[in-house]
Amino acid sequence: MHELSVVQSMMKIIEKHAKNKEVAKVAVKIGKMSGIEPYFLKESFDFFKENTVCKNAELEIIECEIKIKCKSCGAENEIKDFDFSCPVCGSLKTEIISGEEMHIEYIEIKE
Ligand SMILES: [Zn+2]
Repeated sequence: MHELSVVQSMMKIIEKHAKNKEVAKVAVKIGKMSGIEPYFLKESFDFFKENTVCKNAELEIIECEIKIKCKSCGAENEIKDFDFSCPVCGSLKTEIISGEEMHIEYIEIKE
């Protein structure tokens, strides 16, 4: 499962930032094209957090929509249902500008 290795590398980053303090909350942003299932990410996180600085941490998942830029008219739009044509001019010459990312948005440390 892809999510497990994602969580493993996430934990490394979190531990580096937390510096042995307990983490209260972790928010991650995942694009709808990143191939990561929020449900599995949460499961993997809960599985991994035992014995880490995140043992009592809550995971917040922020899903972000797919955004495309049209190469014909330059319009930038969020798309739904994986329709990659430009909603302004109908062109199919579009590129994905966001929606493939996966990163930690913020980490909340317990005081
Ligand atoms: Zn267009």
